[in-house]
Amino acid sequence: MIDELRDAEPRPVWWDGIRTGPQTEALRGTVRADLAIVGAGYTGLWAAIEALTEDPSRRVVILEQDWVGSGASGRNGGFVAESLTHGLAHGEAMWPDELDQLQRLGRQNVEQIAAFLDEHGIDADLRLIGKTTLARTAHEYEALRKAVANYARHGEEVRFLDRDEVRADIHSQAFLGGLRSLRGGLVDPMALTLGLRRVAEGLGAKIFEQSAATGITRDGGTLTVRSAHGTVDAAQVLLASNAYRPLLRRLRAWILPVYDYVLATAPLTAEQLDSIGWSQNQGLTDAGNQFHYFRRTRDDRILWGGYDAIYHYGNAVSPDLELRDRSHRLLARHFRETFPQLAEVPFTHRWGGVIDTTTRFTPIFGTAMRGQLAYAVGFTGLGVASTRFGAGVALDLLAGRETERTQLKAITGTAVPFPPEPLRWPAVELTRVALAREDETGRRGSLLRTLDRFGVGFNS
Ligand SMILES: Cc1cc2nc3c(=O)[nH]c(=O)nc-3n(C[C@H](O)[C@H](O)[C@H](O)COP(=O)(O)OP(=O)(O)OC[C@H]3O[C@@H](n4cnc5c(N)ncnc54)[C@H](O)[C@@H]3O)c2cc1C
Repeated sequence: MIDELRDAEPRPVWWDGIRTGPQTEALRGTVRADLAIVGAGYTGLWAAIEALTEDPSRRVVILEQDWVGSGASGRNGGFVAESLTHGLAHGEAMWPDELDQLQRLGRQNVEQIAAFLDEHGIDADLRLIGKTTLARTAHEYEALRKAVANYARHGEEVRFLDRDEVRADIHSQAFLGGLRSLRGGLVDPMALTLGLRRVAEGLGAKIFEQSAATGITRDGGTLTVRSAHGTVDAAQVLLASNAYRPLLRRLRAWILPVYDYVLATAPLTAEQLDSIGWSQNQGLTDAGNQFHYFRRTRDDRILWGGYDAIYHYGNAVSPDLELRDRSHRLLARHFRETFPQLAEVPFTHRWGGVIDTTTRFTPIFGTAMRGQLAYAVGFTGLGVASTRFGAGVALDLLAGRETERTQLKAITGTAVPFPPEPLRWPAVELTRVALAREDETGRRGSLLRTLDRFGVGFNS
């Protein structure tokens, strides 16, 4: 470990000042429920809130294997994206006929999240101030310039920034251009999780932490969710388990657990802030396939994450994988290269988290066990806002409701499965190398072009 990261706390900066760890008893004995939810991240919590808002008499139980906020929802970058299609360009390539509808639904979703936080007094530092995508190479510059017309075609206003304009905003020689969008924004992800927890429990949801669901069976119209020391007998089950080993076998082919790594700096002084500009305080991301995302926190630290997206052989998911010296070191080097004026600012936190990637970069929804179980997994690194929408889709499916969202191919169509091991790991590595090469050269090689034809890819 290099010295610079030696003193960094091995945990998300978002957990400072909050009580971490389980706050509830584990499940013991048999509990009856109308709806049992597996996973207490955003997806599970939104599902509980929406289900109880629809019908306050419903008995809703959530099983969480660890504690609420321990998963991606408590450790992400907090970028609030309207997109339900992993970005406009991907939506245009995959679902051109539905894109305007999807954009509208995604916009409404973020508006409804903002209204919900207001209504329930959740202070999650939500700031709908958009973001800037930054070009580091000449080909990224050209791609951003050309993207303006695409956005305009779909009624989205974005502004292209040339070299002088982007550097006037963000003082770094690393950037050659940018694309400023005023859509979406930033949130404190853990504060959002805790706010959702409070509302869900207030509406009557019963959460059991440290209660991993280990299996689900169906008998005489009742679904039984087993845990080490208890069971839930439920009329319906909703799987909101992200990248963790899915209880439903079919999901294993669709979900690839990918680790993403993050650093946070100490709070910047007024002079340090002055030296980097960034006065609009928006979220920033690079334009490449291997992109950094960075933002300021409430107390003016810089959170700096992304770039590496690491898949471990055999779909491994484990707390040990949340720290990776090589990825953290690389992030630290890239940070210093991007902002040499911040050479003295220490990194105070480093962490990682797991992302549920699908080949189509958007979640998979569906039902099993005669329609009594529904799943919403595969948010592929863009679930801060879209999980709310996804929870709604899963509830529609459980209710057997045909709604606008359940009619969309982009929502209920399936993804091409990932190959099983031992092919999965080499396939991901080959794709990663091809993506890195495209970042360097600006040319999409034959492997990526072939994958494009099948609407298949790898992303974090
Ligand atoms: C480092 C990082 C940065 C990210 N940055 C962004 C970003 O800036 N913007 C964005 O939009 N998205 C981002 N994401 C993605 C986003 O965080 C996720 O899409 C979102 O949090 C998914 O919510 P979830 O509820 O589906 O999953 P989680 O929050 O992971 O919740 C799932 C829960 O299920 C539990 N669980 C799993 N299996 C079981 C079981 N068998 N029994 C009981 N419990 C179980 C887990 O313990 C976990 O708590 C990022 C993700 C990571 C890891």
